[in-house]
Amino acid sequence: MASQSGLSESQLDVREAIRQLTSQFSNDYWRDCDKESRYPHELYDALSEGQWIGITLPTQYGGAGLGISEAAMMLQTIAESGGGVSGAQSIHANVYPIMPLIEFGSEEQKNDWLPRILDGRIRSCFMITEPNVGSETLKIKTTARKEGNKWIINGQKIWTSSAQVASHGVILARTSEPTSTSRSAGLSLFFAPLRNSAPKTPKTQDDESSALRKGIEMHKIDKMGGNAVDANEVWLDEFEVSEDCLIGEEGKGFKKVLFGMNAERVLLAAESLGTGYAALRQAVDYASQRVVFGRAIGQYQGVQHPLAMAWANLEAARHLTYAAAKLYDERGGTPEQIGAQANSAKLVASEAGFKACEAALMSMGGMGYAKEYHVERYLRDSFVPRLAPVSREMVLNYLSTSVLKLPKSY
Ligand SMILES: Cc1cc2nc3c(=O)[nH]c(=O)nc-3n(C[C@H](O)[C@H](O)[C@H](O)COP(=O)(O)OP(=O)(O)OC[C@H]3O[C@@H](n4cnc5c(N)ncnc54)[C@H](O)[C@@H]3O)c2cc1C
Repeated sequence: MASQSGLSESQLDVREAIRQLTSQFSNDYWRDCDKESRYPHELYDALSEGQWIGITLPTQYGGAGLGISEAAMMLQTIAESGGGVSGAQSIHANVYPIMPLIEFGSEEQKNDWLPRILDGRIRSCFMITEPNVGSETLKIKTTARKEGNKWIINGQKIWTSSAQVASHGVILARTSEPTSTSRSAGLSLFFAPLRNSAPKTPKTQDDESSALRKGIEMHKIDKMGGNAVDANEVWLDEFEVSEDCLIGEEGKGFKKVLFGMNAERVLLAAESLGTGYAALRQAVDYASQRVVFGRAIGQYQGVQHPLAMAWANLEAARHLTYAAAKLYDERGGTPEQIGAQANSAKLVASEAGFKACEAALMSMGGMGYAKEYHVERYLRDSFVPRLAPVSREMVLNYLSTSVLKLPKSY
């Protein structure tokens, strides 16, 4: 359904390979994952076997050496195949949280972590949001204090996706107070083992080492959609991690986490697009066959136009998304310039994805509302990129002040 205009050869190769790989996971597979709140282990295993999990890892660590441009294509294609946002989300926690490790990790850390990420022994999640601190990241309350050769972390995180299947978490914590000139000073970034090994999957035996480590507890959040992926509340109580879990310099973690967040925005943009295209495909198939008043409803322009408009909006957002991905991969601007593009792409693509799902559902009449046709699942999924990782309002605030240089309201 998505056109291929503007895509590079490597993106087209990724698209075709992932299209073939995901063809074994039907829409019914994804509906069951959603219904049973079941993580798609089979997709993870298939991608892992094909070495796709390490898509952005440099080749010297065994990775594919590709960029966010190709990772976005992989995730768009997973979403488009029927997985929706949650299908892509089940994989993306192993892509964007890793970007700060690749960019800012020491050689020793990279040699230790990256090969294990590639073969699935390490699986990650992103632990930033806190119950009282969502949009105001700089005010997080989680702390880390140094004792000997250990860091002791205390605090609470919320909405941590994929924590039930992660072995490690990228944790943002405050290690000292902000300074009078910098509110982000004193924040540090850690890549910490939550368990001693990756949690069990249907393919592996459960064992003691996959239990949570001392000082960490988590509970799943019951949510509206995206049920193929867990979201969690996490408590860290005197949680000990070794000193070599710190990424980069102490107190300078915010710039590093932003590097991951910009990648995350681009990936979620691509996932929104994939979900929107998947919904359109369902609606077009249905409207071509459903006969009312003697004609296929797809012949009526009142049905055609919202679908055509949705496609045009997805295509416009697609161009912006892949332009942002290219800028990110090429480090083609300041972090603020890359941030402006990545945020704009996330904003526009998430709205285009949502509108496409809505148009698809409405064009199908009652059957749009039936789980059998999958569009209601896509619509539920399409809310996630509108809310997270940053809301529409916060993106607009950022663009207003950083790009348009309007005065700050807070
Ligand atoms: C399904 C899901 C998965 C997630 N996964 C993760 C994850 O893996 N890791 C993680 O760390 N976090 C995750 N998040 C959290 C997500 O990043 C936050 O929900 C998001 O940052 C918003 O924070 P909040 O929910 O606390 O909203 P709040 O900050 O409480 O904001 C609430 C509302 O007020 C608006 N608002 C606040 N301030 C302003 C302002 N100044 N101007 C205008 N409007 C304003 C916001 O736009 C929003 O609409 C996830 C969230 C969801 C829903």
